[in-house]
Amino acid sequence: MQTIAVIGAGQMGSGIAQVAAGAGMAVLLADVTQAQAEAARAKICAGLARLVQKEKLTAEAAEATLSRITPVGDYARFGEAGLIIEAATEREDIKARIFEAAGKVLADGAILASNTSSIPITRMAAGVPDPSRFIGVHFFNPVPLMKLVEVIPGLASSADTIARVRAFAGALGKEVVLSQDEPGFIVNRILVPMLNEACFVLGSGTASIADIDAGCKLGLNHPMGPFELADFIGLDTCLEIVRVIHGTTGDTKYRPAPLLVKYVEAGWLGRKTGRGFYDYSGESPIPTR
Ligand code: NAD
Repeated sequence: MQTIAVIGAGQMGSGIAQVAAGAGMAVLLADVTQAQAEAARAKICAGLARLVQKEKLTAEAAEATLSRITPVGDYARFGEAGLIIEAATEREDIKARIFEAAGKVLADGAILASNTSSIPITRMAAGVPDPSRFIGVHFFNPVPLMKLVEVIPGLASSADTIARVRAFAGALGKEVVLSQDEPGFIVNRILVPMLNEACFVLGSGTASIADIDAGCKLGLNHPMGPFELADFIGLDTCLEIVRVIHGTTGDTKYRPAPLLVKYVEAGWLGRKTGRGFYDYSGESPIPTR
C-alpha cells in the first residue's frame, strides 16, 4: 500500500487525507499536536458516518477509509511516505518551518508538495533539500467533492516529480490542470481578486451582503455568492492569497480591501470560526452587514 503524509489537518488536510485513504492509501496525518491530528480524524469519522447515513458510502468502506488514517504527533514515521503534502495555514513562515523539518525525514526519491493557494512554489523550493522533488499540488474545497487539482511545478521540479504527482491526483479520481508558478496560479488569480472586489463593493456601501451574493448567484449563475464562498474558504486564507498576489505582482489593483482586513483582524474568519461575513450561530446564516 502506498503511504503518504499530510501536514496540517484543517479543512484541506483532512479532506486530502480522506480521499487518499478512500483510494486505498495509508495516510499519516499531522498537525501542530497529536491531539489536533486526532481531532481531525474524529471529524473525518463524523463526515464519513454522515455519508453512510445518506447511503452514499457503505459502512465497510467508511471503516476501511478510517483505518488507513493514522494521526501522528511528529514526523518520525514520515520516512515511510512516498509523498508528503503540506496543507498547513497559508503563511510562508509556517510553511518554511514545516519544509525544514519535513526535509530532514523525507525518504530518498520521495516528493514534498505544498497545497498552498498562492505562495510561489519556486521560492518555497529554495528552502528544501532537493527542489527537483518539490511541487505545488493545489486541491479545492471540499476535497472529497471538488474534481480539480492544479499541479504547479517550480522552476526546478523534475519531469518525474510532475508525472508522479499527476498520477497521484489521477489515482484519487481528480482532474489535473497544469499551471506555471505565477501569482495565484490559475483559479485563485481569477477568483480571489473577485472576492476582494466584492469586499470593496460592500465597503463602499453599494449594496448589502445579501444583495451582492444574490446578484452574483442570479446574475452570474454562480452556485455561491462571493461572501458565502469567502466564508467557506476562510477569510484569513483569502486575505493571505490577496496579499501574495498583490506582493508578487506589485500591482495596486490587487491591494487588499480594508473591510476584508478588518474581518480577519476581528477573528471573523468565516465558517470555521462560526462568524465571517455571515453569522453561523443560528439555524441559518445571517449576514453581518
Ligand atoms: P485551516 O485553517 O482549516 O487549517 C490549517 C491547519 O494547519 C490547522 O489545523 C492548523 O492547526 C495547522 N497548522 C498550523 N501550523 C502548523 C504547523 N506548524 N504544523 C502542522 N500544522 C499546522 O486551513 P485550510 O483551509 O485547510 O488551508 C490549508 C492550506 O490549504 C493553506 O495553504 C490554504 O491556502 C490551502 N487551501 C485552502 C483552500 C480553502 O478553500 N480553504 C483551498 C485550497 C487550498
